[in-house]
Amino acid sequence: MSESETKAPARACPICGKPATERYRPFCSKRCADVDLNRWLKGGYAIPGAPDAEEDGELAPAPRGRDED
Ligand SMILES: [Zn+2]
Repeated sequence: MSESETKAPARACPICGKPATERYRPFCSKRCADVDLNRWLKGGYAIPGAPDAEEDGELAPAPRGRDED
C-alpha cells in the first residue's frame, strides 16, 4: 500500500505559500513559524469578532492632531 499517495496533499505554508513540512506544519520552516508567532505576539492577527472590527461603517481611527503634512 502506498500510504504517501492516499495522504491528503500537504498544505501550503500560510506565510510564504511553500508546501508545509511535517516538522513545522502548518508552516514550511521554523522561520515561517516564527513569523507567524511574531504576528500573534504583536497582535497583528485579525481575529473574527475582535472588538475593533470595522462594522460601524466608520473609517479606521486615524491619528488626530495632524491634518496634513
Ligand atoms: Zn513558509
